[in-house]
Amino acid sequence: MKLRLYNTLGREMQEFKPINEKEVGLYCCGPTVYNYAHIGNLRTYVFEDLLRRTLEYAGYNVNHVMNVTDVGHLTGDADDGEDKMEKSARETGQSPDEIALFYTDAFFKDIDRLNITRPKTACVATKHIGNMIALIKRLEAGGFTYISGGNVYFDTEKFSRYGELALLDRQNLKAGARIAVDGNKKNPADFVLWFTNSKFENHLMQWKSPWGEGYPGWHIECSAMSMKYLGESFDIHCGGIDHIPIHHTNEIAQSEAATGKKWVNFWIHGEFLLMDKQKMAKSAGNFLTLQTLIDNGYEPLDYRYFCLGGHYRSQLVFNFESLDAARNARKNLNDRITELKTASEPAAIAGLSGESAAIMARFNETLMSDLNAPKALAEMWQMLKNKDIPDSEKLGMALEMDKVLGLQLDRIEAADAELTPDEAALVQEREAARMNKDWIKADELRDKLLELGIEIKDTADGTRCRKRSGS
Ligand code: AMP
Ligand code: ZN
Repeated sequence: MKLRLYNTLGREMQEFKPINEKEVGLYCCGPTVYNYAHIGNLRTYVFEDLLRRTLEYAGYNVNHVMNVTDVGHLTGDADDGEDKMEKSARETGQSPDEIALFYTDAFFKDIDRLNITRPKTACVATKHIGNMIALIKRLEAGGFTYISGGNVYFDTEKFSRYGELALLDRQNLKAGARIAVDGNKKNPADFVLWFTNSKFENHLMQWKSPWGEGYPGWHIECSAMSMKYLGESFDIHCGGIDHIPIHHTNEIAQSEAATGKKWVNFWIHGEFLLMDKQKMAKSAGNFLTLQTLIDNGYEPLDYRYFCLGGHYRSQLVFNFESLDAARNARKNLNDRITELKTASEPAAIAGLSGESAAIMARFNETLMSDLNAPKALAEMWQMLKNKDIPDSEKLGMALEMDKVLGLQLDRIEAADAELTPDEAALVQEREAARMNKDWIKADELRDKLLELGIEIKDTADGTRCRKRSGS
């Protein structure tokens, strides 16, 4: 299967080829843990999960790394404002550590509830200060830095490809000088690698460094940690589109300046979730969390289904009517899967032929063409509605498709069978044997029921029975 992805670097669809044949290095910018993730942030993580699952579906082993930012991310992206962690600490009277732990936990709980596969490595910024200092030293040795007002800056003039990802042109960058907020900078695009006391004297989190006690700028953590876990060149880097002009542009500059080689081959960015046509932002206070949706009676996977209904490169407008539509569609899907599971066993995908094989091929093609989730969902629905396909094949295909869609169709139970009085008596007899710990008798009765086509499953909610239709 050929996977084609839209690469922000070059602004075109490209065939994906990893550096190592079977293994993909994937780095995703993670949360800044000063508050709950909002559902816009979570849209980005759902898209990244779709990408990871698609890569795995295509047969790659994915080394997925994500950072957790617990220092250095200022309220303004141009090195202005206050550290988000410290601001939250000041407002709540807690320590930055306490805040980071609390919101990191909350974040992982959210992604678990959305059935987003956890990254293989989740690396915390404050645990990698040494790696960041080493990288800044390397940049300093290469002549890419200057010190001004006590802070260490990256000198963007020294990196000729600066701004390539964001298609920034140097003339406009120069023109922006008039609105530069940080007077220490030679050029408005320059950015801080290391802050010292000269910037925020009362910063609670400080580390010793060759440039004085202080703390790292936000961008350096992603370069230092991704290189530590994925090497100096790797395959894919993701995030939301807001990261293109500053965060990712700066990550590229400092990484490639340090190593002298190309850092990341594919840059894949997710579009924003909009709230009433505005950007959803924590700072603007107009954000919803997953918990708010749950408190309003939705299941986390309703939101996942809603996200899959939009292509990751299109803006998606959130409102409760659309979320209701997603919830209804998901309920119908789950009901359909219950019916199929009640009626049959899933057929093996490898054995499919004719129309079923053609449907699977179309589904795969849809996904492999830049992760077209809405079309993939539509393919699944068309397949489920097709009257000519046997139930067992439908079930097998739906479960296969769900490896990528992640709607937990595998967890859906078959409906309980309607039993005749004789059959019900046998089930009760088996229950009694189990209560008396007469396992031999219980097993004999299970076998007897199986001969009658009744399958018994002992679950936390009691014994469930399923009649096999044989199709
Ligand atoms: P943050 O915690 O602010 O660093 O953001 C975490 C991720 O969410 C980043 O990849 C952002 O690009 C992304 N993001 C922020 N706001 C939105 C939004 N409204 N819609 C989609 N993604 C977003
Ligand atoms: Zn990053």
